[in-house]
Amino acid sequence: MSAANERPLELLPIGAGAAYGRPDEAQSCHLVRGGGAAVLLDLGAGALNVLTGVQRPEHLDLIVISHLHADHVVDLLALRVYMAWGPGRGGHVPVLGPPGLRALLAGFAGEDAWEPGLTFEEIPPGGVDRDVGGLRLTLRQVPHLDPTYAVRVDGPSGSLCYGADCAPSDALVDLARGCDLLVTECAFGADAVPGGVPHLNAEMAGGMARRAGVGRLALTHVMPEHDAGRAVEVAAAEFGGPTEWARSGVSLSV
Ligand SMILES: [Zn+2]
Repeated sequence: MSAANERPLELLPIGAGAAYGRPDEAQSCHLVRGGGAAVLLDLGAGALNVLTGVQRPEHLDLIVISHLHADHVVDLLALRVYMAWGPGRGGHVPVLGPPGLRALLAGFAGEDAWEPGLTFEEIPPGGVDRDVGGLRLTLRQVPHLDPTYAVRVDGPSGSLCYGADCAPSDALVDLARGCDLLVTECAFGADAVPGGVPHLNAEMAGGMARRAGVGRLALTHVMPEHDAGRAVEVAAAEFGGPTEWARSGVSLSV
């Protein structure tokens, strides 16, 4: 086994912001490394710039896009330029995302220059299981924009689950069951979620972590007008386990 294979499974938040963020936040993007593989989960605005400081994008083994909201997708437009005409030229990164992703992007940037640098594969309706290096990825649908996929990653040293954006759901609890680390959105902080809005607050996130029996909880994707410190307190009390914010550049290892 190579040294890379022996590294612990790590989730490195690249962008922890929401659809609009604080001055120093990029939008949703998390880098998962372990088992000799590097997988990117979502690529929102500003995230590619941050990513290039820690990981050469053209060396990614896979990019997974959880859903088609702009704050999870938009920097694929910048990555197209990087891969077609920039330092990534000659490389190839596969993108696994919901149906319609490539057409959505082509609506902005046109049809040319996506391939061969980036190739697109659609996630089937029920989700998909995928081995990438020494990592096993399990994608399952969660309630948010239809369809949205949460991602579980099982690696040699542990397991983690990224909940994408989602309303409270048994689907995420089932997917995350027994994970060492659950990363969930907490868009509304410790405040109430408006009726019918498919997002989480701290109490909901903590409750799902408790029901799933995970080892620890990391919150992300809070809108800047909500108190982040109070959200951690509320989520931790509901969960009953270690809880923190997923901070850009601060690695979470399992
Ligand atoms: Zn969303």
